[in-house]
Amino acid sequence: MRDAKNDVERSWDAIVVGAGLGGLSAAARLAGSGMRVLVLEQHVYAGGYAHHFLRKVRGTKVVYDFDVALHQTGDLAPGRTMYDLLSKLGVLPQLRLRQFDVAYRTVGPQHDHQVPAKADAYEQMLVEAYPHEAKGVRSLFQALRAIDAPGPDGGLSPEAFASMDQSLKQLMDDHVRDERLQSVFATLWGYIGLLPADASAFSYARMWASYHFGGCFYMEGGGQALSDAFVRVIESNGGQVMLRAEVDSIQTEAGRVTGVSTKRRGAFRAPVVVSNAAAPLTFQTLLDDPTVASEETSRLDALPLSCSIHQAYLGIRGDATKLGLPDRTCFFVRSYDFEEEKKALEIGDYGAQGWLLGNHGLADPKHLPAGRSIVHAALMANGRLWEGLDEPTYRERKRDLETFLVDRVADAIPDVRDRIEICETGTPHTMHRYSLNPTGSIYGYAATVGTPHLPPRSSVPGLYLAGAWGFPAAGFEGAMISGWTTAGLVFEDVERG
Ligand SMILES: Cc1cc2nc3c(=O)[nH]c(=O)nc-3n(C[C@H](O)[C@H](O)[C@H](O)COP(=O)(O)OP(=O)(O)OC[C@H]3O[C@@H](n4cnc5c(N)ncnc54)[C@H](O)[C@@H]3O)c2cc1C
Repeated sequence: MRDAKNDVERSWDAIVVGAGLGGLSAAARLAGSGMRVLVLEQHVYAGGYAHHFLRKVRGTKVVYDFDVALHQTGDLAPGRTMYDLLSKLGVLPQLRLRQFDVAYRTVGPQHDHQVPAKADAYEQMLVEAYPHEAKGVRSLFQALRAIDAPGPDGGLSPEAFASMDQSLKQLMDDHVRDERLQSVFATLWGYIGLLPADASAFSYARMWASYHFGGCFYMEGGGQALSDAFVRVIESNGGQVMLRAEVDSIQTEAGRVTGVSTKRRGAFRAPVVVSNAAAPLTFQTLLDDPTVASEETSRLDALPLSCSIHQAYLGIRGDATKLGLPDRTCFFVRSYDFEEEKKALEIGDYGAQGWLLGNHGLADPKHLPAGRSIVHAALMANGRLWEGLDEPTYRERKRDLETFLVDRVADAIPDVRDRIEICETGTPHTMHRYSLNPTGSIYGYAATVGTPHLPPRSSVPGLYLAGAWGFPAAGFEGAMISGWTTAGLVFEDVERG
């Protein structure tokens, strides 16, 4: 990776704007097939949200290595999509995977379950815990298997297409009625950022299936290990990943893409530009002439942005497992009323929202400083509530948020405040700062019913989208599948001349 050189080629076969997982997977596939690819990333790390940050404890040699985003990723069991895709790209052999039998724990006013990763065991657990709903649980899991299965042509199944017109709530209502059971099944709603009445059944089912049919995994070294593996593939195939290189314009001539210009590294030419930057940024700010993309710009305002996240990253003395946090990932539900949760999220009423606690050492023990633990506390956020704040108001809100999140950790580890060596809190503003995603959105466009994403091949010849803002969806897997798919479209177009 280069971040301070100017002796760089100015003309490339393809330029990728942004080194998030969507951009990196597109670049890796393009470079692996012989195209000369330049990736331009504004941040000092490659990976987008899949990056880490290091914090040294003052006056000691202790360094904590915090994974920004990854709690777990799915679909890496042999034969599953991500397994195949990362194998073909040469990324998988570079990773050391850890697979978990328990996907997560979910705790609510009237339930407490360790949720098995394997679907069959999960189904059985629900049947035993909710015997009055046994039939519905069986048929719900049958529906999920049908959505996950490949269609006759190897693409999506008819059930998957049908689920695009349904909400997660409708899917659940078709099979089970118990509100506790629905809450347990919808535990992962935060992974697509929409509550069941608004979330597309398709997006939820695909994400859910990736964990419960495809396996729950973490990779040693976290999201950064994955991103670094992509960078090695790109660079070993003659490509280049340039950091601190913010693109400020995507250039066009006679309505087609010709290259980009950057804030500090000058201009680069290429007939293909893949944008991993947010779609609104790509079409409304970066494109030198937004009128050439009128097809997209006319749709942008109607597409809802996904939510953001509040997250506290704590480095503490002691073993969190023994101190009171024995779960790698634990979701806490305050209420079984999804509408209450939605309202709380919309207005930023943390006290009425569910939250997540993670004991990161259980995911990646080798990356802990000796005698220490890394814990996370997170809750979903409406990024708009953090926009346009003056500095003192922002600071005050961030302090309140931090107090709230540390209190949640203290629910599990009562003396945690005496143990904290590092405490970093990320707000939607933080998410925006490191990704440039509007309102600090973490999943691109919201995965609402109908999954109204923009197509990856834009209406501007030579311009493509890759990542959470495109299809199929966000999350680690969604972004990487999107990048892979986009690279395939580029090949098709290049072949056609
Ligand atoms: C706290 C948190 C926890 C999460 N947990 C999980 C999880 O457990 N499992 C999971 O699957 N997903 C998780 N996610 C979501 C997942 O990380 C994202 O959906 C996914 O990584 C998005 O990838 P992307 O490639 O679309 O974009 P991004 O990661 O947003 O990357 C876009 C990149 O483009 C760069 N960029 C933007 N504009 C420019 C420009 N003009 N010039 C140059 N570079 C530019 C940005 O700097 C960034 O690097 C989490 C996210 C967060 C924030």
